[in-house]
Amino acid sequence: MKILVTGGAGFIGNHLCRYLLREGNEVVCLDNFFTGKSANVADLKKNLEFRVMPHDITNPLDLKEHFDRIYNLACPASPVHYQFDPIETIKTSTIGVINILDFAKLNGARILQASTSEIYGDPLEHPQTETYKGNVNTLGPRACYDEGKRVAETLLMDYHRTYKVPVRIARIFNTYGPNMDKDDGRVVSNFIVQALNNQPITIYGTGKQTRSFCYVSDLVRGLYNLMESNNIGPINLGNPGEFTMLELAEKIIKLTDSKSKIEYKELPQDDPHQRKPDITLAKKILGWEPKIKLDEGLTKTINYFKKSIKNPYS
Ligand code: NAD
Ligand code: UDP
Repeated sequence: MKILVTGGAGFIGNHLCRYLLREGNEVVCLDNFFTGKSANVADLKKNLEFRVMPHDITNPLDLKEHFDRIYNLACPASPVHYQFDPIETIKTSTIGVINILDFAKLNGARILQASTSEIYGDPLEHPQTETYKGNVNTLGPRACYDEGKRVAETLLMDYHRTYKVPVRIARIFNTYGPNMDKDDGRVVSNFIVQALNNQPITIYGTGKQTRSFCYVSDLVRGLYNLMESNNIGPINLGNPGEFTMLELAEKIIKLTDSKSKIEYKELPQDDPHQRKPDITLAKKILGWEPKIKLDEGLTKTINYFKKSIKNPYS
């Protein structure tokens, strides 16, 4: 199949491009390189079935090519990045998603939207099932991302009902792994880079807030299974193991044999207190569940950062 991956030069996107190429597909990676890096896909360029297309999805796609599948991953995912230019972020998940949906409609392509656990906001239901409607502050600094992704889900359903566009909605929970940017600002990359440099580990708030971390190869397999299933979703894709940020910091200090101490910093506004996916639906419908436990995934990620810190231009 011929597949378009928007945001393909980002963290999850480059792993997805690799997976799709291994499955024997032709892949076009479309990206505006806001948080994505050319280096993330540089080694793929020798593959004749792979191409990079610089484009910002907030502009219409004027492409005279047919695609069978579109994975829409374009959108900065780290709070640091999506809050840098909040208007651009919400444009990406609204105007950008309309542009991609119009293109999918023209192509008759099936489109998967990378939605997020953030649509549940600071959840009052725990763990979160797909039927939970969420608790998002529409006025806060996270809303440009959370509300944008909620509108994106709405747009997919409306294009599906109105124009019969085949859609898939994946609600992705916190994902980590090799090829995360060291300056990405998310917790796993921050803690690992700090630990490897024996610098203080920055815990925001008390560190008692929880997250559930999914290793990237598990996530990518889940995205593919959903795309090729007969189910529209939304479907939660995440690892149900739940950890406090203090537990995460302690694990990383131990695994890196670091001398780092913990430093407490202010908790960002609207930071969710808890998050854990209920993946009953993914297990039942996609036959999917994560295989990589946190310690194993962290070890692989630490090994990646050890190499990339030593050799930043590799
Ligand atoms: P990332 O920031 O590494 O990748 C996002 C990619 O999209 C980058 O390559 C960036 O340059 C590109 N991009 C941003 N705006 C664009 C635009 N307007 N036009 C074209 N390209 C644009 O983030 P990621 O972690 O790889 O996340 C990928 C997707 O998965 C995002 O949509 C994100 O919301 C979603 N998601 C990620 C996580 C996670 O934990 N990583 C969790 C939930 C959802
Ligand atoms: N966090 C932290 N220290 C950091 C970065 C993040 O304690 O250096 C916390 C953050 O406040 C949040 C959790 O880790 O409670 C996950 O943050 P991240 O930005 O990775 O993801 P999100 O908040 O979007 O789930």
